[in-house]
Amino acid sequence: MDRDKILLTPGPLTTTLRTKLAMLKDWGSWDADFNAVTASVRASLLDIVHGADSHVVVPLQGSGTFSVEAAVATLVPRDGHVLVLDNGAYCKRAAKLTTLMGREATSLDFDEAQPVDAEVLETYLQKDTSITHVVMIHCETGAGVLNPLQAVADVCARFKVGLIVDAMSSFAALEIDARTTRFDALIAASGKCLEGVPGMGFVFIRKEVLAACEGRSQSLAMDLYDQYVYMEKTGQWRFTPPTHVVVALAEAISQFKEEGGQPARLARYTRNYQTLVAGMQALGFRPFLDPAVQAPIIVTFHAPEVPGYSFKDFYAAVRARGFLLYPGKLTTVETFRVGCIGAIDTHEIEQAVHAIELALRDLVIAA
Ligand SMILES: *Cc1c(COP(=O)(O)O)cnc(C)c1O
Repeated sequence: MDRDKILLTPGPLTTTLRTKLAMLKDWGSWDADFNAVTASVRASLLDIVHGADSHVVVPLQGSGTFSVEAAVATLVPRDGHVLVLDNGAYCKRAAKLTTLMGREATSLDFDEAQPVDAEVLETYLQKDTSITHVVMIHCETGAGVLNPLQAVADVCARFKVGLIVDAMSSFAALEIDARTTRFDALIAASGKCLEGVPGMGFVFIRKEVLAACEGRSQSLAMDLYDQYVYMEKTGQWRFTPPTHVVVALAEAISQFKEEGGQPARLARYTRNYQTLVAGMQALGFRPFLDPAVQAPIIVTFHAPEVPGYSFKDFYAAVRARGFLLYPGKLTTVETFRVGCIGAIDTHEIEQAVHAIELALRDLVIAA
């Protein structure tokens, strides 16, 4: 059958037919019609974080990591020192890209089953005064932990260090308010909770730090300052824009607004999350995280205790029934992940749980 599989993955994710149909058109990258789409997307993005007064938003071609890399390169001086609050795989990726771009990076390590701790950060900043920027991941998609953005932002503000937030898997679903949460940069992408298609990221940059960003990036294509200046001057993207991705995002944002914005999206994802966990627990699956630290974005489950279990076989058995799972990303325990995000609701989640039940039966019979 050619029905699309339901993606239970944290991007790309299942999109609506309206979003897909928006891509069936060619756009000129210099054309006024396309520039108007870019401008409206940028204005809408700023509205979502209430950031029009305090921040600018700079879109960038590429997957989400491209924008994280661009944000670090654009914000952090070449002799800057970045402290990464590390409780998972995406934190490690941020530390690695910082080092590769020639900035000094230090990791403050936390348990991957727990949120990072703002008090530990505070103690660290008291003794190491060389730190210029802190990098944190809002929702650590590796295990699914929600990190305390407000508490970390408050500590960074008090110590006058810059804060760079990877909010890739939380933006538009969890509340982020630039009026009350101080960040120098915050990064997200088209193909996550806004339910667009993948292909572009965007970075909110605090206006007060923008001017100092000129000339910091060692990359031409990933320089967000240049991208910003050019876009302000011409209304155009500096290099070839992902036109179809941009128009799909504009359409996805219209639906986001129709649904009721961030609170409505969070409510739907929370229902998905609750339905998923209840259904999986009834099948005997155990979530890896304490529910108190879990974001309603992606859930890590312990692998089923079936002799000879392999994720590959389990994935294939669930896939045959129309649903795509996501592998685990933990270092020590065998797990798999199920996303709660995308253009799906509790009906798809119930069907997914049923597919998992049937797949598990296959594995048990084969064992
Ligand atoms: C998805 C994601 C990214 C970006 O990953 P890409 O594969 O580059 O799109 C970065 N950080 C977090 C926390 C994510 O969930």
